[in-house]
Amino acid sequence: MLVVQKYGGTSMGDCQRIQNVANRVMQTKRTGKSIVVVVSAMSGQTDTLIGWTKYFSKLPNEREVDMVLSSGERVTSALLAIALESMGQKAISLSGRGAGILTDNTHTKARIEHIDTKKITDLLLQDYIVVVSGFQGIGQNGEVTTLGRGGSDLSAVAIAGALKADLCEIYTDVDGVYTTDPRIEKKAKKIDRISYDEMLELASMGAKVLLNRSVELAKKWNVPLVTRSSFTQDQGTLITMEENIMEKPIVSGVALDKNQARVSIADVDDRPGIAAEIFGALADDNINVDMIVQTIGRDGRTDIDFTIPKTEEEQAKKVLEKFLNSVGSIDYDCEIAKVSIVGVGMKSHSGVASTAFKTLAKENINIMMISTSEIKVSMIIDLKYAELAVRTLHCAYELDK
Ligand code: ASP
Ligand code: MG
Repeated sequence: MLVVQKYGGTSMGDCQRIQNVANRVMQTKRTGKSIVVVVSAMSGQTDTLIGWTKYFSKLPNEREVDMVLSSGERVTSALLAIALESMGQKAISLSGRGAGILTDNTHTKARIEHIDTKKITDLLLQDYIVVVSGFQGIGQNGEVTTLGRGGSDLSAVAIAGALKADLCEIYTDVDGVYTTDPRIEKKAKKIDRISYDEMLELASMGAKVLLNRSVELAKKWNVPLVTRSSFTQDQGTLITMEENIMEKPIVSGVALDKNQARVSIADVDDRPGIAAEIFGALADDNINVDMIVQTIGRDGRTDIDFTIPKTEEEQAKKVLEKFLNSVGSIDYDCEIAKVSIVGVGMKSHSGVASTAFKTLAKENINIMMISTSEIKVSMIIDLKYAELAVRTLHCAYELDK
């Protein structure tokens, strides 16, 4: 059996913690498994390194930036190999290049294209524990690249996929995925199993345990993922194919996103091509539009409401300026929140959405926008009721039971 274990920055935070990781890796090794470990830099280190590169220039050469940033993970991977060796275990660290992680040439946000597994496989056959520096690879031009912030998760999933590992364990400082943010609802429960699709919906809405790109990659390569804490023995949350989840809860979790703003365009000319013009202009400026609601036209006019990231509001105002003369008005509201319920069981149950609407109505919370997918119902509400909405929905679907 082959496992890939990834340890994040907090788990690798200092030498004592690296020793703790070494102990955990040995615990797994003693059960007879082959192990590849992927590590992050010590927590805060990547930020420190970025800061250094900006001391000299606002826009430092990205090739050099990648040379600097990739050092953080080289340090921790080598230290962990040293710790394992000192415990009498054969261990070796490999940089992204050494591990055969081939990427495109886009510095600071490269994409993994292929993994040449020969070296890792050879070393595993010789009973080495292979420790790979996460977050980095090697471009086709032979230059060191990095994968974008949080990229070590991607390294781990890609390596697990390429090696056809039985399991990819992502160790962080939280013990798994919860039915909602435990800081908002103390009764939130840890989820034992969840599907890739549910995880994608929950993560994109603020359940920040895993990088979305890594869940997508895991789904594509069908890598069973576990997120768990390196500080406890808790089993964590398994993220897997829907088929592997016997008991499908109707609602698995409630997610909250407070980073959206609403744009309302009133009295838009109701003619073919108008939506293409507005959203085309936003897309040209790389503004990420999320929910869109258009009302039924009356007297040749219609209203279009949509949401964008709060951070892109000023940019959107600029882009939409040119439409001001041809529409009634354009209003911006950043005092909103998006609350969503997510669950694969929704596919086969009716009345799930109406329960959510009734629940919010009972609290006198007005719903400004609604959007649904097969496994999700999202509602835009007033920001000041965000936490209340999360708690009452969590209770209404009995997620605390
Ligand atoms: N060290 C990198 C970062 O902080 C990669 C990672 O931790 O996954 O973004
Ligand atoms: Mg990380």
